[in-house]
Amino acid sequence: MVTETYQIGVKPYDKFRLDTVIGITIFHIGAILAPIYSYIYYETIFTLVAYPMLALLIWPISHGLGLAVGYHRLLTHRGFDTPKWVEYTLTVCGLLTLQSSHIKWIAVHRRHHQETDTFNDPHSPRNGFMHSHIGWMIYTEGRLSETPFLEKYAKDLMSDPVHRFFHKFWWLPSTILALVLFAFDGIEAILWGIFIPVAVGLHFTWLVNSVCHKFGSRMFETDDDSKNNWWVALLTFGEGWHNNHHDKPVRARHGLHWYQIDFSWMLISVLKSLGLAKNIKL
Ligand SMILES: [Zn+2]
Ligand SMILES: [Zn+2]
Repeated sequence: MVTETYQIGVKPYDKFRLDTVIGITIFHIGAILAPIYSYIYYETIFTLVAYPMLALLIWPISHGLGLAVGYHRLLTHRGFDTPKWVEYTLTVCGLLTLQSSHIKWIAVHRRHHQETDTFNDPHSPRNGFMHSHIGWMIYTEGRLSETPFLEKYAKDLMSDPVHRFFHKFWWLPSTILALVLFAFDGIEAILWGIFIPVAVGLHFTWLVNSVCHKFGSRMFETDDDSKNNWWVALLTFGEGWHNNHHDKPVRARHGLHWYQIDFSWMLISVLKSLGLAKNIKL
């Protein structure tokens, strides 16, 4: 039986994640270096355009298909059904965001929905805006990475050997992509193809946890502080329609009106037209 070993009512910010600080710092330095490197080692006008295009190509694959559609709407909330090979493919796409193991991401997010804006929410602005934005990952609850917590909140994924493999080797898809990009065009391709999407994507994801529980409008009187925020929605493939999402988390579509642009819903619609998304919860 899985038991929680922490004391109720005491929020155990018991772990300073130096590895997270170092990782975030390295990826920001790499992202800043990308245009500087391209400027110093300028080759042709083609490469000047091609590298930003590479970043713009990988971003919707990793953060759109992978994170928003795969991690969030499919794996966390099961807003639609898809063949297992599609599920694993979306997982690999999401791992390219380098936002830790997908199982940890999903367990933390399920906890967020269960305890939204209460004392036990892993990242509520009620415990401090910067805490909800980035602080909770640095001075964090150590238990969020521990097996009892993952078993409690992501038992379905922990019992799947393929998901367990990617839980252990969550860095593998990015490493393989880095090797491919390096073989293709050296360090510059890695800086643009991995460091920029990862670093920029982190900031966009953090906005959902912080800004979308603080600033925006509400369509539904939910018991939490969730807000709809149009500019966060544009940056996060529709994840900024957060009040709509908290109203019915299982709903695969977050933008509920024509003016609520929801790129993830468009991607799910494409999967549906290909026969790869079924039993879509609306
Ligand atoms: Zn939320
Ligand atoms: Zn959610």
